[in-house]
Parts: sequence; structure tokens; C-alpha cells
Amino acid sequence: MLSAIDALERLHEGNRRFVSGVRSLETLTSQTRRSEFISGQKPFAVILGCSDSRVPVELVFDQGLGDLFVIRVAGNVVAPSQIGSVEFAAAQFGTQLVVVLGHTRCSAVQSTVDELLQPGENQSRNLRSIVDRIRPAVAGLLETDLGRDPDTLARQAVRANVRVSANSLRHGSPILEELIQGGKLLVVGAEYALETGQVEFFDGLPTPG
Ligand SMILES: [Zn+2]
Repeated sequence: MLSAIDALERLHEGNRRFVSGVRSLETLTSQTRRSEFISGQKPFAVILGCSDSRVPVELVFDQGLGDLFVIRVAGNVVAPSQIGSVEFAAAQFGTQLVVVLGHTRCSAVQSTVDELLQPGENQSRNLRSIVDRIRPAVAGLLETDLGRDPDTLARQAVRANVRVSANSLRHGSPILEELIQGGKLLVVGAEYALETGQVEFFDGLPTPG
């Protein structure tokens, strides 16, 4: 299994290819090697991303069949089933890298900001369960000067939400905590920019050296 650092590098390289509009031969041919994956899988990274149709995880990292264990939910929020999915990947496959991937102009995060600014009653209980998980990440931002600057607020809210989700995974279960402390698992936060196609890793990166 790739180390977390090597896995990060592979994602970096894949995203660079995506931004330049090239795809690797390995990604392109993975579909013709489908039979190789019948007996098992060794995904080198777990990605918790948003369901947004503009952020398909395998495409933005230029990865193919069998490469990524992907969890997608609106607003990349962490509920028990997301923690369980990460535990599953870490235990079953030994995957060492987890990336929480938010993105600019996330409607789930924006809906939460809007809801905080102007509380309404028209959400379903299920939708509310997503907004409720994003709310603590952005509520504090509204009390700062950002409350008067909607664009900056929206950008910072996305990153704050990624940080909260990453922390929820880091401290969400004794199994994950133990793996992290033993150096067997790294959880990082990243943001995909719809405007450029670039993924920036900004949270939880190990200090070099
Ligand atoms: Zn989103």
C-alpha cells in the first residue's frame, strides 16, 4: 500500500494532469483491465467529497478503476456512516490517506450560510440533518467582520467546513484515532476550485522534514 505521502503526491500529479487537460494512459486503460479488479481492490486513498456534479472525484484526480475509495455526500459532512466507511477502507485495504474534499461555490455550504442569515422553516428533516452538520463550522464566521462580506464569507465557510469534517474523522472513532497515532493514517483537508480545476491541500499536511 502506498504511504500517505506518496498517495498525496499521486493525487497532486493526477490533478495537475486534469488541469492541463491530459489523462494518463493508466487511467484510460484501467477500464480495459476490469477483470483485474474482480478478485479485490487496493484503493490508495479515501476521498470524502461533495455530491456536486461538477466535482467528480476520479476525474479531477485523473484516477481509474480500483484507485480511490470514494464517499460522496452533499457538503462533505461527517455522520456515523462516513466514519464507518473510512474505518472499513482502512481496515480492509490498509489505505493510509483520507482526503476531505470541499469545493468553491458549494451549494450545501451556501444554503447553511443563507439559513443562518435568514432562518426558515421550509427544510425537510433529512436536508436539515446536512445543514445542521455544516452549521457549527460557519456560525462563528458570521460573528466576525466576514458577516458583511458575502464572497469572502462563502470562501471561508467552505474551508471551515472542510476543517470540521477532517477533525470529525480524526477524532470520530477510537479505531481511526489509533491508526492516526500509529502513523498508519493521515487525514487532510483540500479544496477544489471550480474556477481553475485545481485542488489545494490546506489542512493537516505533515510538516516537511
Ligand atoms: Zn458542494
